[in-house]
Amino acid sequence: MKLSIVIPCYNEESNIEELFNELKKVIDSFHFTCEVIFIDDGSKDNTYHEIEKKSLDYDYVRGISLSRNFGHQIALLAGLEKSSGDIIVTLDADLQHPPNVIPELIKKYEEGYDIVNTRRLDDASTSLFKKITSKWFYIFINKLSDVRVEPFGADFRLMSRETVDAFLSIKEHDRFTRGLVSWIGFNQCIIKYKANPRFSGKSSYTLKKMIKLAINGVTTMSSKPLRISLYLGLIFFVTGIVYALFIIGNYFNGLNVEGWTSILITILILGGIQLLILSIIGEYVSRIFNETKSRPLYLVKKKTDTNT
Ligand code: UDP
Ligand code: MG
Repeated sequence: MKLSIVIPCYNEESNIEELFNELKKVIDSFHFTCEVIFIDDGSKDNTYHEIEKKSLDYDYVRGISLSRNFGHQIALLAGLEKSSGDIIVTLDADLQHPPNVIPELIKKYEEGYDIVNTRRLDDASTSLFKKITSKWFYIFINKLSDVRVEPFGADFRLMSRETVDAFLSIKEHDRFTRGLVSWIGFNQCIIKYKANPRFSGKSSYTLKKMIKLAINGVTTMSSKPLRISLYLGLIFFVTGIVYALFIIGNYFNGLNVEGWTSILITILILGGIQLLILSIIGEYVSRIFNETKSRPLYLVKKKTDTNT
């Protein structure tokens, strides 16, 4: 049996050393072969240099440097594509996903699960903001998307070769890993782990990136938002008809209604809703546009081993 550990890194130069030490402790306790794949997602610091150093010292360490920053989800995918293990574990580079949980993941795999997901138990250092935003993120996504996305899941999981191959057979450009993993099915389970605070550096998931991930999550997993226009349209159409009957009734009763305010409000509300719906449609059209261009999902600039 061979284990691949896949780690996307973006500006993590100060974490590689510590992460690797932690990983090494775990790896040394295993009696099967391991490989560690670091994906440098176009870091602006010396992350790749740190990875290279490790790969010179340990031949089971491999590094891939993407040509620019493609984002966490794509970096993960690049790592999965390069992995050759029978089981694959993905984790973050900032030690928030403790390597000492890996044996627990493997135990579950040995019990017969194909995918072992994890659920983060927040530690005291998780900011209130992060807690609230991630809670709403999952409520929002599960309301709208067609597959269930486990709340507080992280991209810290074990996958069997079979499921990784299934995952890689999905050729979509806009990828929401958590949703797609849930979508592929197989025998999945979930274990809890206590998240550590980030070891060093700061999170690159800014509010902007989180909103992008949320929109991505919903629009790639579901077309429900497109149906909003149907419901809103129906509501306003019926209201309009009822109101029109009311006004006609008033007219025959000799009542004249002053209409400036109501006309203005109606125009503003309807105008707003139309723009909103247009933007939802636009979001889907842009996804079609992205998919049809079928550009490669990422480009590799360099790698530590040249024979793969
Ligand atoms: N990451 C990446 N590309 C990016 C942003 C992040 O590869 O554009 C990596 C990052 O190095 C880390 C993981 O994705 O290993 C999770 O990122 P981060 O810790 O910033 O997110 P958070 O834990 O705050 O959600
Ligand atoms: Mg993190």
